[in-house]
Amino acid sequence: MTLNRRDALKLGAAAAAGLGPSLSIATTARAMTMSEYAYTLGGGAVSVHPVSHASLALTLPGMVAYVDPVGDTSAYESLPQPDLILVTHEHGDHFKLETLAALMGDSTRLVVNPAVFGLLPAELQTVATALGNGDGTTIGDVAIHAIPAYNSTPERMNYHPEGRDNGYVLTLDGGRVYIAGDTEDIPAMRALEGIDIAFLPMNPPYTMDIEQAASAVSDFAPKVVFPYHYRGSDTEAFAALVRNGGTATEVVLHDWYA
Ligand SMILES: [Zn+2]
Repeated sequence: MTLNRRDALKLGAAAAAGLGPSLSIATTARAMTMSEYAYTLGGGAVSVHPVSHASLALTLPGMVAYVDPVGDTSAYESLPQPDLILVTHEHGDHFKLETLAALMGDSTRLVVNPAVFGLLPAELQTVATALGNGDGTTIGDVAIHAIPAYNSTPERMNYHPEGRDNGYVLTLDGGRVYIAGDTEDIPAMRALEGIDIAFLPMNPPYTMDIEQAASAVSDFAPKVVFPYHYRGSDTEAFAALVRNGGTATEVVLHDWYA
């Protein structure tokens, strides 16, 4: 499995800090700004499009996937309609029915946790698959596995109780992408293997702190990690902890709150 960085295109003005010297940046004047970080996993092109906070889009071989879309649909205007929308859990920064319904195309499939499935109207349930922790399904050429996502610190457990919410691992030909959802550094995360690109939350008390996140990275050693869902946390300090953690993991410091 190889992960080669391809050219990254950044539309709109934003800082290049933290992207690394081998990433080329192009800037164009457009009203809509959408950043793209592009990689090659195996033989396939994968692009990451951060939207905001916990919302992102992925361009995968043969598929466009949105994750936890909320808010104004204009944020997605520059992207193709999704083939797949993943929802990790029911909280408002991850699931908004109006946004979800507006983004659905004729052939869009949904993969959600069981609690969100129960909140969907009947017409969306017909195109949705509910995955509990540990379950999997395949859509197109992408295998999707639901990874547990929960708070493990006793005073935080009310936010995300164990067994309800999902993270997802997407396995494509030649690569694996992990979207953690709202979770702490649980054993299921630390046990992951072969992850090329990971998205990790870090905003206590809702998820984990930067020390927990960096410690988990030192265990499961993704090739690339995007801090996301980090409002108020020091992601540069997280990057320093990762650098000192003994892995070759690259930290991508995108501004998800611009
Ligand atoms: Zn959240």
